[in-house]
Amino acid sequence: MAEETKSLNFIEHIIEDDLKTGFPKENLRFRFPPEPNGYLHIGHASSICLNFGLGEKYNAPVNLRFDDTNPAKEEQEYVDAIKRDVAWLGYEWDEERYASDYFQQLYDWAVELIKQRKAYVDSQPSEAIAEQKGTPTKPGTDSPYRNRSVEENLELFQQMKDGKFDSGAHVLRAKIDMASSNMLMRDPIMYRILHKAHHRTNTDWCIYPMYDWTHGESDYIEQVSHSFCTLEFAMHRELYNWFLEQVIDSKKVQPKQREFARRNLSHTVVSKRKLLRLVEEGVVNGWDDPRMPTISGLRRRGYTPDSIKNFAHTIGIAKRDNLIDVSLLEFHVREDLNKKAPRIMGVLNPLKVVITNYPEDTEEYVEAENNPEEEVPTFREVPFSRELYIEQEDFREEANRKFFRLKLGGEVRLKNAYIIKAEKAIKDDEGNVIEVHCTYDPLSKSGSGTPESQRKVKGTLHWVSIKHAKEVEVREYDRLFTVPEPDRQEGKDFLEFLNPDSLNVIKGYVEPSVADAKIGDHFQFQRIGYFNIDKDSTPEKMVFNKTVGLRDSWAKIDK
Ligand code: ATP
Ligand code: MG
Repeated sequence: MAEETKSLNFIEHIIEDDLKTGFPKENLRFRFPPEPNGYLHIGHASSICLNFGLGEKYNAPVNLRFDDTNPAKEEQEYVDAIKRDVAWLGYEWDEERYASDYFQQLYDWAVELIKQRKAYVDSQPSEAIAEQKGTPTKPGTDSPYRNRSVEENLELFQQMKDGKFDSGAHVLRAKIDMASSNMLMRDPIMYRILHKAHHRTNTDWCIYPMYDWTHGESDYIEQVSHSFCTLEFAMHRELYNWFLEQVIDSKKVQPKQREFARRNLSHTVVSKRKLLRLVEEGVVNGWDDPRMPTISGLRRRGYTPDSIKNFAHTIGIAKRDNLIDVSLLEFHVREDLNKKAPRIMGVLNPLKVVITNYPEDTEEYVEAENNPEEEVPTFREVPFSRELYIEQEDFREEANRKFFRLKLGGEVRLKNAYIIKAEKAIKDDEGNVIEVHCTYDPLSKSGSGTPESQRKVKGTLHWVSIKHAKEVEVREYDRLFTVPEPDRQEGKDFLEFLNPDSLNVIKGYVEPSVADAKIGDHFQFQRIGYFNIDKDSTPEKMVFNKTVGLRDSWAKIDK
């Protein structure tokens, strides 16, 4: 659908309303704020497409901001991976920022809050603080340290910063309202002591600001106008605003937090914490395992940036959490690769065909169209000879009239080549067909212009010439989990629902034209599906990933 004809989503309405009531368009600014504690996944793609999409739509800058306030879980490896993934999706950020760039500013503001009696050092253990929080219906209780003097607070906070205390000995809390109906407003923690080196600030700091204190102030420092986050932060909005009001200069833009629904994908998990478990427990081979719903896993599997962006735009932005069926994502990659992927022939379950009336010492080339979707068609040469492979499932000794493939006495066309007729099935001792003897019609070659070349037969099969084919490894994937929502099964761990057959490695035979292809290149194996070349490929052995089948094999199960 063209962008103009698509109705605005509720986020765009918020922006349009702000513009109508006088917010200057040139002040629009957005950000995508990942925490570098894991690799980006398909859920993040929605947030990336939302924020960078708005940047494109309103010609406004979008920052990439790392929310790096927890050195216990964050690493440079994740920062690098996140940048790679956002860039691969095709987005350019205006500035690369880090919450850790603002540690000093945040500290200075915290000191100001202490001076204004709006923050205090609490020296209780975390359990006591949690107990005093109350419940949604019962107000909290004041900490015995709530009314410490400004001087004492300043001194303690300074000592916290100077590393005089062990991790967890004290915290800095905002002094707001222990009876607020919003529990997050009951004197939330702003700082904690953590003696841990940070991937950027190293050991400069041993106190680290909490998310709520950091996020809004970072938005403000960067003059982000609209700060979009997922629904679980809806209750945090009051606190986001309270923290901003403490520091805001009325001449500057006050960022506005608005929430949208998290996107969940069926038959997988989209939570960095759970994905990390899959990696750490060796269930998958790393964050970019092609079965992972990470951007890097999808890329390795053969997904394209456009397929992911089109998926994100199709599902759009919602106000309520919901589950998107993974087949919709597969639909989009199929649609995109149909346009982009050159066609080749590859056989995955080979059955040998011998064309008995084709000369033994001969070979020839047939012409094959690379992609019928191309505006200007291009062609390649495919070798043909007396001994070929076809798919096992394309041959039956006997079959009814609806079987349009090869059966004894029947004819099919070999794609781009000749019409053949099956004459005899050769079997092993157990009665399995191991070879089919056929004859061919020498005048029927596709494109040769003879009347025989125009002759219509019902079935067309793909094939490879045995002597020319390249033997390759093919990795076929299935859903990683057997149920749509593995992490929402009452009382069960999501790992109990792993699909034991999510990876199937087989040998395949492909036409020799792939020999020059590079890692990442996409192909359609005709009649089978889309494949790409995996990074595990070596000059000796090419490895293909199956991205997706040609049809949705889950939705259309033959009844
Ligand atoms: P996770 O639970 O996977 O760790 P997160 O929300 O903690 O996710 P962040 O790195 O904090 O991950 O997320 C960066 C941005 O992406 C945030 O604005 C967040 O709200 C958004 N986001 C994360 N997961 C999803 C999702 N499933 N759907 C839409 N947006 C998401
Ligand atoms: Mg987070």
